[in-house]
Amino acid sequence: MIILCPDCGSAQRLPSLAPLHRAVCHRCGAELARSGTPRVQALLAATVTALLLYFPANFLPTLIVDYNGQMRESIIATGASALWDQGYWTLATGVFLLTVVMPMVWLCSLFAILVIMAGGRHPAWLGPLMRVCQTCRPWAMPEIMLLGGFVAYSRAEAMATTSIGVGGWSYLFYAAAVLAIDLLHDRHALWERVMPTPPITQPVGAFACHTCRYPIEPDCAETARRCICPRCRGTTGARKEDAFNQVAALVATAAILYIPANLLPVMTVLSFGERTPNTILSGIGELWDEGAWPLAMIVFVASLAVPLLKLLGLSWCLAMILRRSGSQLVARTRLVRLISFIGRWSNIDVFTISILCVLANFGNLEQVEVDPGAMCFAAVVILTMIASHRFDIRMMWDAIDPEPEPRPVHDSVIL
Ligand SMILES: [Zn+2]
Ligand SMILES: [Zn+2]
Repeated sequence: MIILCPDCGSAQRLPSLAPLHRAVCHRCGAELARSGTPRVQALLAATVTALLLYFPANFLPTLIVDYNGQMRESIIATGASALWDQGYWTLATGVFLLTVVMPMVWLCSLFAILVIMAGGRHPAWLGPLMRVCQTCRPWAMPEIMLLGGFVAYSRAEAMATTSIGVGGWSYLFYAAAVLAIDLLHDRHALWERVMPTPPITQPVGAFACHTCRYPIEPDCAETARRCICPRCRGTTGARKEDAFNQVAALVATAAILYIPANLLPVMTVLSFGERTPNTILSGIGELWDEGAWPLAMIVFVASLAVPLLKLLGLSWCLAMILRRSGSQLVARTRLVRLISFIGRWSNIDVFTISILCVLANFGNLEQVEVDPGAMCFAAVVILTMIASHRFDIRMMWDAIDPEPEPRPVHDSVIL
């Protein structure tokens, strides 16, 4: 069977796979297929577990601070209210969406898909529902909130006696269930259950859907090579529409905001009337001084190194597209995949601040206030995440794939 690589667009032969093997693209290394059938029952069990744990994890106290008899509790579902009360309503809405709404939409849609598949049914709306589920996944961040909670615990413990509540322990197991879902979730195999990938008859000019990888043949595509994908029912095209300009605008805006995000304080700690502004870097220094050096290193990588890598990496790829350069294509493709994968982890600091604002709320004695730097930092993370999702890797491969010239069909690599 001939299939198309979703990243570089190369047409290649896909043999039938032996158990525990996978096929990767011969030139860019993208995974094309893996052997085995989707583990629907195991995935359903993990999803039900995550859904059941969602409620105690989000609606019961995660961290409890005891400051000379005065107690404060942090609850994830209402945690963003402290940001709202301090006038940062955009930040509050963002934190609420990423930690409460998106995980619920993702888990409910995945649950519905798996129940339908387990029942052997294939309604017409299964594809669009899979599209919603897949789109929500990067924006549902329970595992990142868990790490933010660890950092908040470490910071709060330096101020007052801090303990982990029932919600905190539930959150730990909830995040573990989410990890199990990710390990069991074979997206390509599930798409095959929705609608099997047909063999391509005309590799020249064909392209794979951005969302579900369904091959669209040239005669199926309408004007400007755009059409509705038969499987996921989303609008798709040979290239993501206007991707270059959108990514360039997003990266430029994020690069400008990266400067105040690192120079301005993200929060101010008020202790006995004394104000101590904290930047991202000074927060890392405090974690290091408190002896929490593994967390300090994680926050350093997530909050400083990753945003910089995203900005420089995407700028380099955009510049190479402008120059129509064919050098380092595989390295650049891997870099964009890495940026898409790790970009969301930069939200750790934003989540930490949202928890600390609730916990350290003792008036002049001990108080954490949000500062404008946090808004700039959150904007950098979100803008670069959108940029990496909008980036179309195939734009880079256009440098060596002048269309519509016929391209040779290669064998995929079996691992
Ligand atoms: Zn490829
Ligand atoms: Zn599709």
